[in-house]
Amino acid sequence: MKNLYNALQLKQLYILRSLGYNYSDITPYKEDEISLQLPQNIQELRKLVSKCHLCELSKYRKNVVFGEGNTNAKILFVGEAPGGSEDESGKPFVGRSGDMLDKIITNVINISKEDIFITNIVKCHPPKNREPNSIEAHTCLPFLYRQIELIKPKIVVALGGTAYHYLTGDETKMSKIRGIAIEKDDYTIVPTYHPSYLLRNPSHKHEAWEDFKKIKQLYDALPQ
Ligand code: SF4
Repeated sequence: MKNLYNALQLKQLYILRSLGYNYSDITPYKEDEISLQLPQNIQELRKLVSKCHLCELSKYRKNVVFGEGNTNAKILFVGEAPGGSEDESGKPFVGRSGDMLDKIITNVINISKEDIFITNIVKCHPPKNREPNSIEAHTCLPFLYRQIELIKPKIVVALGGTAYHYLTGDETKMSKIRGIAIEKDDYTIVPTYHPSYLLRNPSHKHEAWEDFKKIKQLYDALPQ
């Protein structure tokens, strides 16, 4: 709840800044008002996000990519943003990086894709595959935090530095933080390389494999 509250506060401040305000003493939300802001049901949240035009990325997308998978998953994968194929299909992690992630999930963690949920920091495709900027990310983050609250995963895998940065606020390089389990209130975050980075830099695959073996250990240790 605290993460969602902080994300909503930041979103409001970014919106005020984009309207030209440099200073505001308004508290946009009180913490106990948060439940009024976003749906408490994942299908309703999906409907809301599918019509979202809150940031610039809505101008360029073909489809909103809300995320997909088991809404009771114990493990949630979070990437940076939908790519071109995801924008076309409306589904997360399709194409070559999706195939690689599928293989890792099946062969290293040894679970079915039906047991996980996959989404991104932003739900709309940034033009030319650029990194989402901080206004776009902070505007979209409340949707991710509500997804986390509703799905209640025990492990959140941050795929790539952008996902890790926006999930934690920490800017440590992925090469330094990868594979480290970071305890949050209700779940553990484990950062590792994004599959598309591994496709461009195959020499890092063995490190990612080590990270995923740790993720498997954490997963296997969860109460069944
Ligand atoms: S990226 Fe997120 S905040 Fe921006 S338009 Fe898409 S759904 Fe809305």
